[in-house]
Amino acid sequence: MTIDPAAAYDPNNIFAKILRGEIPCSKIYEDDWALAFHDIAPQAKVHVLVIPRGAYVSWDDFSLRAPAEEIAGFVRAVGTVARELGLVAPGYRLLANVGHHGGQEVPHLHVHLFGGQPLGRMIA
Ligand code: C5P
Repeated sequence: MTIDPAAAYDPNNIFAKILRGEIPCSKIYEDDWALAFHDIAPQAKVHVLVIPRGAYVSWDDFSLRAPAEEIAGFVRAVGTVARELGLVAPGYRLLANVGHHGGQEVPHLHVHLFGGQPLGRMIA
């Protein structure tokens, strides 16, 4: 089921629980702004999710409400994860699904990072 991007933040969504350490994840990076972990159902050889520590439903919510420092910290963290995974030279793809048409299922902003293989024009 996809999410309503206009809905209030649900503190019991699965990524909020991961951030609180209530359920495990395959963590690969964390800093003051972000947490990155392997997607449990990878759609590419490398499929990582990067999520902000702050409570944001979607990219729309984040871009609207997050302080500039938090946006900068999160964007830098995504770049750091890609570099640390050695994905810059071969290349990679970022994707953030938003709302129903975007197919967003988890109501906490997450950026998908795909790589490790040629990705073609789209992963849909
Ligand atoms: O963008 P969307 O909301 O559709 O993506 C959610 C992603 O979260 C999926 O790729 C799913 O495999 C992943 N997921 C995860 N760990 C969970 C629950 C979902 O990696 N515990």
